[in-house]
Formats: sequence, C-alpha cells, structure tokens
Amino acid sequence: MQPSKFEYRKASTLDEAVSLGGGEADYLAGGHSLIPAMKLRLSEPSTLVDISGIGDLKGISRDGDTIKIGALTTHSEVASSGVVNDGCAALADAAGMIGDPQVRNRGTIGGNVAHADPASDYPGILVALGATIVTTGRSTAAEDFFTGLFETALGEGEIVTEVQVPATGDGTGAAYSKFFNPASRYAVVGVGAVVTKSGGTCESCRIGVTGASDHAYRATAAEEALSGSDLGDEAIAAAAAKVADGGEMMSDLSASAQYRAHLCSVMASRAISEAASRA
Ligand SMILES: Cc1cc2nc3c(=O)[nH]c(=O)nc-3n(C[C@H](O)[C@H](O)[C@H](O)COP(=O)(O)OP(=O)(O)OC[C@H]3O[C@@H](n4cnc5c(N)ncnc54)[C@H](O)[C@@H]3O)c2cc1C
Repeated sequence: MQPSKFEYRKASTLDEAVSLGGGEADYLAGGHSLIPAMKLRLSEPSTLVDISGIGDLKGISRDGDTIKIGALTTHSEVASSGVVNDGCAALADAAGMIGDPQVRNRGTIGGNVAHADPASDYPGILVALGATIVTTGRSTAAEDFFTGLFETALGEGEIVTEVQVPATGDGTGAAYSKFFNPASRYAVVGVGAVVTKSGGTCESCRIGVTGASDHAYRATAAEEALSGSDLGDEAIAAAAAKVADGGEMMSDLSASAQYRAHLCSVMASRAISEAASRA
C-alpha cells in the first residue's frame, strides 16, 4: 500500500521542528515504525517533519552521575558506547538486543520511546533504571511517561530531545532479560532489574517490565518482596512471582496472558540474579 498524500519538511533546528510540528503533522526520526504505519494508513499525517538532521539531538555524554543520550542516537550507538557500557552496561545490553543490525542502525531511542510500542525494549529497562525523558519544555520520569498502548505523556507537537539515565554506582547492579519474539525479535516479555546491595542484603531494587502489559510498568510488589531479603534463590523466586501483579497481562497471537505472566516470573528471576551478581 502507498501512504496518503503528505507534505515533507526537513527541519534543521529544534525550534524549526517545533514550529512545523503539532496538529496533523508528525515527526520522522528513523522511520522504522512511522513509515510502515503510513503505508498501512494507520498513520496519515498531513505534514511529515523530518528531524533526522538536527545535530543537537544526537550524541551521548556523561555529566557527573547522569548519562545523557540524544533522542536521535541509534540503538547500535547506545549498544557500542563506551560511556553507556562503563556507566550502565544493562542499557547497552538492552539496546544490543533490539531487532537486528539494520533495525539497530536506523532506529532511534527518541523514536522508540515516543512510539511506545508495548513490545519495545527501552521502556522496561528505562523504568527500572529510573531514567528521565526530556522533551521540549519538561522532564518526565520514565515510569510516568508510558501511559497506554502506543500512548505517552507527550503533548501535541512536543519532541523528545534526550533520555537521561543515572549511572549505576558502587553496590548497585542492573540487568535486562528478554524473551524474544522469534519472528520480529521484539520483547514478548522483557524485565529490567536494578539491585542495590549492602553486605549480602538487598537494600533496594527497581523492576521495570515491558511486553507483558499494554505499557511498561514498575513491579512494586516484587520490589517490596525483594527489599531486605538475602537475595538467595528462594527470595528471588518469591519476588519474581509477583512481577505480573503490577500489570494487566496482554493476550495475543504471540502469547496468552497466562504464558506472559509465567514469562514475567522467569525473565525477572534472570534479571534480578544478574543484577545482584553485578552489584
Ligand atoms: C523489523 C523491526 C524489528 C524491531 N524490533 C524491535 C525490538 O526488538 N525491540 C524494540 O524495542 N524495538 C524494535 N523495533 C523498533 C525500532 O527499533 C525503533 O525503535 C522504532 O521503529 C522507532 O524508532 P524510529 O527512530 O524508527 O522512529 P520513527 O519510526 O521515525 O517514529 C516513530 C514515532 O515516534 C515519533 N517520534 C520519533 N522521534 C521522536 C522524537 N524525538 N520526539 C517525538 N516524537 C518522535 C514519530 O513521530 C512517530 O510517531 C523494530 C522495528 C522493526 C522495523
């Protein structure tokens, strides 16, 4: 199928993009989700504002304990970044699990979070890491940014400019575990875990889940169950069993709700164990 007629505009600055956006316009980053949606006429923007050439939206840097990733940074750039691998290897791991090399070389972190596909990887790990989504005008915690099926807190014409991730400090480990859809490699279920240890005890933890529900969520019941535990196999299994409680499990061709709940527990056990071993 061919897309509906649209006007193409290429923005060279953020201000120009904002002035061209809003209303019936849509932004074009990597185009990996938007172009297929336009061809299927699921999306019919009157104007396509190409933001892919805006230099200010590219690149990765570290400012103190914060890793800053420009919205147009590709998944392969995140996966191979020394800054990300040194400061938050779990995020680099998650980026490296996205799709295939073509997808990772073209898809962007800003497009991924703005599109909010329920099976995307970044939402789960970003919620676990306590990341912040920076947009034109405000900053939103990742756990508040993903609000529904392909829905986010983004307002009309708002652009994701940067994703900020806290670097993992001493005594803290993070990991991401994913059950791949064998055809698309999207997450049937993906779980991110961040564990902070004191001695052999779990001082605190954060768990983010993607793929299972219509949007990424924090598994707070599991976090509470793990906090204060000895991080032994039994404690991890008991906490992991509560991970599905935080979301309403989806049921579709890839997996039933019951199977997704099971995968939540298995992926969470793996992610928590790995995060604890890195702490
Ligand atoms: C075959 C295939 C397999 C994939 N597998 C995976 C996978 O395993 N895991 C995974 O997480 N993802 C996967 N993806 C998704 C892919 O990695 C991209 O993240 C996704 O397509 C969106 O990024 P994009 O840069 O291409 O955005 P686009 O397609 O250009 O845009 C998508 C939407 O986001 C909006 N948008 C883009 N950038 C911004 C911005 N900065 N501010 C505001 N709005 C913006 C656009 O207007 C549009 O509505 C896959 C995609 C394909 C095609």
